[in-house]
Amino acid sequence: MGLYNTITCCLPCPHCDETTEHEVESKFGKLNLIEYSIGEKVCWTKCDSVKNGGKPATPESSFEGYTQCSNCNKDFFVKVIICDDIISKVVPDASRNGFI
Ligand SMILES: [Zn+2]
Repeated sequence: MGLYNTITCCLPCPHCDETTEHEVESKFGKLNLIEYSIGEKVCWTKCDSVKNGGKPATPESSFEGYTQCSNCNKDFFVKVIICDDIISKVVPDASRNGFI
């Protein structure tokens, strides 16, 4: 438990609108504190279950991510879009509120 991967990317903060570099925490594929960037290939496990890090059946999949703004220190959730095994984009998830 507690393991996740990170994706370093620039994101606009939904709280203060400032675009800064984020280290998004997300759980997909092999969980081993892997540091991804946008455009990198995802390392899946050999497991059939997506929950256990296996490759999703659909070419495009979306995973939950979480990050904190370095400008206003508030947190928010993001969607990590993975397309054909490649981290395609990370977008703020306006449907969910952060904890702070
Ligand atoms: Zn902010």
